[in-house]
Amino acid sequence: MFDVIIVGGGMVGASLALKFSQSGLKVALLEKTVAPKLAPDAPVDLRVSAINRRSEQWLTELGAFQAIPVQRLCPYQRLQAFEATDGKVTGAELTFTAEEIKQPHLGHIIENNQIQAALWQQFPKELTVFCPATIVSLQQEPGYASLQTQEFGEIRGRLLIAADGGTSQLRTLAGIGSNGWQYQQGCLVATVETEYPQQDITWQQFTEQGPRAFLPLPGAMGSLVWYDSQIRVKQLAALNSTELAQQIQQHFPEKLGKVKVLQQGWFPLTRMHANRYSAGRVVLVGDAAHTINPLAGQGVNLGFADAKVLAELVLAAVAAGEDPANAALLAKYEQQRKNANLLMMSAMDGFYQLFSSTSPLFRFARKAGLTLAANAGPLKAWVGAYAAGLK
Ligand SMILES: Cc1cc2nc3c(=O)[nH]c(=O)nc-3n(C[C@H](O)[C@H](O)[C@H](O)COP(=O)(O)OP(=O)(O)OC[C@H]3O[C@@H](n4cnc5c(N)ncnc54)[C@H](O)[C@@H]3O)c2cc1C
Repeated sequence: MFDVIIVGGGMVGASLALKFSQSGLKVALLEKTVAPKLAPDAPVDLRVSAINRRSEQWLTELGAFQAIPVQRLCPYQRLQAFEATDGKVTGAELTFTAEEIKQPHLGHIIENNQIQAALWQQFPKELTVFCPATIVSLQQEPGYASLQTQEFGEIRGRLLIAADGGTSQLRTLAGIGSNGWQYQQGCLVATVETEYPQQDITWQQFTEQGPRAFLPLPGAMGSLVWYDSQIRVKQLAALNSTELAQQIQQHFPEKLGKVKVLQQGWFPLTRMHANRYSAGRVVLVGDAAHTINPLAGQGVNLGFADAKVLAELVLAAVAAGEDPANAALLAKYEQQRKNANLLMMSAMDGFYQLFSSTSPLFRFARKAGLTLAANAGPLKAWVGAYAAGLK
């Protein structure tokens, strides 16, 4: 019998598996795809994340941040938001800097698969990995829960953690419903080579068709995110690299400079929030509990925050000789994380509405808001610290 079974070895699930096994618990990790293995010179992956300071601390505590090759880390010191029309900035530029909040940087842009691989590399031999594993059913019994798998038969544990992403099978098997919607827009993501050396700024340009963002990558590279109607985004994703580069030059601000497109893909935008965070011995973390508009790059940061809170509660319960899936503990976890996640999801939606609307009232509000925020002193520093995950 395992103390903890984690389903899903993505960034969030792998971090929890590592934390619990480093703390001496008997842990099983089930992952449905192959274990991540990366050559040091692997080409840059399309999926990247802005990892804030709090997530960096969590990964460092686990010994994983240090394992990411330094040449795959791109720290950023500045975060900027502005409105632009036809490539020209049309109002105030709101810039948050690491210096304002007395930090060496606001965060790092890192490829998701580098983070995942660094976590997996730290797995101690005591951690049992079932991979690839296909779950067939879930059974909840007094004192334990069991998963029936195609490849490994029955696996029993006292606490089952669903870290299997937005379409979580374990969430469904546990009978936990969810609410949310698919946004009308989608987003195109492109990895590009730029004409500038490595940059320390990430910026977001707001247009009435949707935001356009630049995330710096190591060397002269960057990741671009382009929000638009799904039809438009799919058309863009189907272009060849030269045609897409031409469209980017036309629709991104001049400060981007010339780019060469290396790879591209598109993603639907989904908002989903689980109706509750646990049922019996099953508890949800990361995207299995919530998926959020990637506008401000907060998804995995919220997931790591879930993981940290759950780990602290479970380890304290185990140390006190209590059941790691006791109802009071799981209720406390939900109470601590659900409101924080909802707040961030709603803030992103409000932001998204405000900056995508063509209504004159919204247009006025965002101009006034950016100007006000750019001059807001302590409030601005507070928002900068919040964005860096320090509040
Ligand atoms: C375009 C885009 C940009 C983004 N940018 C950012 C950003 O800048 N910053 C940020 O913080 N977030 C960002 N996000 C969000 C971020 O990618 C997610 O929040 C994050 O990947 C969630 O991690 P996770 O480990 O919870 O789930 P996932 O990454 O979905 O991992 C789930 C894991 O579970 C496995 N799995 C699935 N089903 C099963 C099963 N039945 N059995 C066993 N294993 C299973 C999967 O193979 C996978 O390994 C972005 C998202 C998008 C779409």
